[in-house]
Amino acid sequence: MDEVLEQLKDGVRKFRSEVYPQRAEMYAQAAAEPQKPHTLFITCADSRIDPNEITSTGPGEVFVTRNIGNMVPAYGEMLGGVSAVIEFAVGALGVKHVVICGHSECGAMKALLTPESVGKLPTVKSWLTNAHAALTVSESLHERKGEDSERPLIDVLTEQNVLLQLQHLKTHPSVAGALAAGDLTVSGWVYDIGTGAVRVAEDGQREFTPIEAA
Ligand SMILES: [Zn+2]
Repeated sequence: MDEVLEQLKDGVRKFRSEVYPQRAEMYAQAAAEPQKPHTLFITCADSRIDPNEITSTGPGEVFVTRNIGNMVPAYGEMLGGVSAVIEFAVGALGVKHVVICGHSECGAMKALLTPESVGKLPTVKSWLTNAHAALTVSESLHERKGEDSERPLIDVLTEQNVLLQLQHLKTHPSVAGALAAGDLTVSGWVYDIGTGAVRVAEDGQREFTPIEAA
């Protein structure tokens, strides 16, 4: 018996018997019309992040793409899944906002600081080059006297990575066009897994401000 598969099937059974009946109307409505998500949410593949849970959103509201380290390759450098998702979300679905959400305890940020740890993972190593500029910026901020020198380097890197990926995002023609037309806004987030806190840098800001609990 495949224990993991059985565990997953049990989860589906529970969904069908307990969760779905309570929300049947909402799901039926979601199926009846084309999806019209207001937000593209780009975050890390880390299994501890639940984009719908942390934004209190449901089916149809948030278009999500996830990868190691919540990265967005600059346009033209690595055309692939992420670029296609961005083009589709902005160009076809017409999302109004793009979030790039990093997080605490990120394995990708740790790997950037200890490259030898991914020595046997050549694809991951290559993917991490999308954040190399953030590493350079973080190291110089961390060395300089000031607030950042008193924080763990990984915290500085997590923020700088989000800011760098926002820059990369803007190199995508669909994003640049929608921003110029005033049809789109973007923001960078850092989610703290242990406390549930979310800090946000709105477009153009370099500082992340906490969102207070309601
Ligand atoms: Zn991560």
